[in-house]
Amino acid sequence: MVSRVIPVDPFDLVLFGATGDLAQRKILPGLYHRFEVGQMPEEARIIGTARSDMDSDGFRAVVRNSIKEFAPSYEKDTLDRFLSKVDYVPVDALGDAGWSDLAKALRSDVIRAFYLSVGPGLFSGIAQRLYDAGLATSDSRIVVEKPFGHDLASAKALNEGLRACFQEHQIYRIDHYLGKETVQNLMALRFANSLFEPLWNATHIDHVQITVAETVGVEGRGAYYDQSGAMRDMIQNHLVQLMCLTAMEPPSKFSPNSVRDEKVKVIEALEPVEPKDIARGQYRTEKGDDGYLDHVGDPGSRTESYIALKAHIGNWRWAGVPFYLRTGKRLRGRESEIAVFFRDPPHTIFPNVGPLHGNVLVIRLQPDEGITLRTTIKEPGQGGFRLSDVALDMSFADALGDNAKSPDAYERLIMDVIRGDQTLFMRGDEAEAAWAWVDPIIHGWEERGDKPAKYDQGSSGPEEALMLMHRDGRRWRQIGG
Ligand code: NAP
Repeated sequence: MVSRVIPVDPFDLVLFGATGDLAQRKILPGLYHRFEVGQMPEEARIIGTARSDMDSDGFRAVVRNSIKEFAPSYEKDTLDRFLSKVDYVPVDALGDAGWSDLAKALRSDVIRAFYLSVGPGLFSGIAQRLYDAGLATSDSRIVVEKPFGHDLASAKALNEGLRACFQEHQIYRIDHYLGKETVQNLMALRFANSLFEPLWNATHIDHVQITVAETVGVEGRGAYYDQSGAMRDMIQNHLVQLMCLTAMEPPSKFSPNSVRDEKVKVIEALEPVEPKDIARGQYRTEKGDDGYLDHVGDPGSRTESYIALKAHIGNWRWAGVPFYLRTGKRLRGRESEIAVFFRDPPHTIFPNVGPLHGNVLVIRLQPDEGITLRTTIKEPGQGGFRLSDVALDMSFADALGDNAKSPDAYERLIMDVIRGDQTLFMRGDEAEAAWAWVDPIIHGWEERGDKPAKYDQGSSGPEEALMLMHRDGRRWRQIGG
């Protein structure tokens, strides 16, 4: 199998926040990779902007260093050619300086994209200034980073600010989880095979577990994280998006609005979550290891670094099928997966083997992207008839060899922006619907003064999360197993 790289059309990409962490670690190395494989054409240009006062040569030196660090397999000649496409214009997003220089740097006959890799407080202001300066042409695109709002009201305000200057089809709200290869593969698995879809409903599926576990804590970004917490930082966007792709009805076609229409329907069908169906936690201070409260520097913080909850999608397909979502920091493994548990066989013809286990389809996002189907087989050997569980395992790396080396999520998404394909980006109503589901849950904690439980660093989370499952007679899949 040979993967094809189709070059995109020439573009001017204006990168706001070009000196920032995300730009240096992900966006610029990602663009370099796309240039290296021939997808970013020679005529393309990247114009970095930030307040820092430097010229294009100074910025190229900054970019060279970040490529060396974050794309270490670079080739010098290719990097030199890439850097010749890079310019810099100092612009203060909140002031008047720099905008006319930016206007002069842009061409009128190529695709124009503005990537706002800056804090969300600057999104609406930058959109307005681009509009006022006449730079927001009708076919230009604007890309905004997460977080898209802090609650429903702020997400609505952001949408209004952006839509005052750009139309919805020009706005690309990044959720980088959607750019992950396996997440897209989830759609291929469901809708390009006839095997799964007939079983993909409450008749055959017992429950679904979606896990995003991290081994790192919030050290270094504690102050930012403490304003947010796992619910806002992870559930509202990444885990809800994964749930949508798992649960949505087949779209009539693979087009941005068909896919996003179906995702919005899932979010709108989410039922309110009762407090007893939520477990929140903070990793505790341990001998020699700072805990969450040390990292955020606030001994009274009630922000959660872990959350597990049981969601119900109130529609015909998923009636009575719980979707358990969990995510946390400082856990015993770093892994992201969607596990679909099929119901147990209704009757066993095998005597003395105990209850049979249902099949489990696991879609692994990281590490080692791939798909596993847990099946029951006869244990090999003579004498007796014993059963055991085995995994039908497909690691993309093993199955696809070099072709499994898929672009990083950011690379994929930036190229989609240039192609004008919004399928893997959140629509404004989707972001608002997710906040409308999450907001009452957070308000409930605040009104009741709920405190997160403590959990050990390197564990699977707080005891309360285990109890949430045990009460339902189910078990979480092991993290870091
Ligand atoms: P950062 O390191 O603080 O960088 C912020 C950038 O914005 C800098 O280049 C800064 O440069 C520029 N900037 C700040 N104020 C400005 C102004 N008034 N006018 C023009 N430029 C200004 O932030 P970051 O971590 O890269 O994050 C950027 C965005 O991505 C945020 O929305 C963040 O939530 C999101 N995000 C980040 C990550 C990550 O891993 N870092 C992951 C997901 C999402 P000057 O100081 O020179 O102006």
